[in-house]
Amino acid sequence: MKRVTMNAVVDQNLCIGCKICEKVCPVYAIQVTNRKAFSDDQKCVACANCADRCPQHAIKMVERAEIRELGVDVSKFDPKEIRALCEKAHLNPEQILCYCTGTRAEEVAACLLGGATTPEEVSAQTGIRTACTIECIQPLLRLVQAAGNELHPDPNGWRWYGVTTTAWEIPQEVKDKYNSRGFYFDEDRELLDRVVKVGADKQ
Ligand code: SF4
Ligand code: SF4
Repeated sequence: MKRVTMNAVVDQNLCIGCKICEKVCPVYAIQVTNRKAFSDDQKCVACANCADRCPQHAIKMVERAEIRELGVDVSKFDPKEIRALCEKAHLNPEQILCYCTGTRAEEVAACLLGGATTPEEVSAQTGIRTACTIECIQPLLRLVQAAGNELHPDPNGWRWYGVTTTAWEIPQEVKDKYNSRGFYFDEDRELLDRVVKVGADKQ
């Protein structure tokens, strides 16, 4: 859940239409038309990514007239389906994926069960990845993929890159190479698998 109290406002006199803001926005809330950026305050989730990166300092974050609340009501979804989807992505439903907004895996799973199909849609509905926009992208991508959606990374690599290798996909030859150097891949994976199952017996 996230309360959106600010939104991005562009000073058209300073904007040079470079499109950096458009490329870094996690929810497609800002777009450049005729070499000028325009932000949509109905979509902006106040991450300030655009304002931080604008080379012209043309974007300011200002207080919203009306606060927006983002969030998906997990209680409207079958907990067994939520858990099954989270486990498919090797996540525990109660695990916090986004420490900036406190968004848990179960809320992302509920959003996907409710019809979201892209990381951007999930961000717009739940608020995940709308602050630092970096730390939670990988578990978010894993859940989007586990729900049966294809991922289409931004070809320019601005918004997000592809999925990184997880403990469940490391090839045996890589494990063999590094096991003798103090890495414990299989033991790590066993521990992570146990974390995923915590609370499963209550359902
Ligand atoms: S990053 Fe700044 S200068 Fe570039 S298009 Fe956006 S508002 Fe304009
Ligand atoms: S503040 Fe974040 S969500 Fe709002 S327009 Fe800028 S990049 Fe997009």
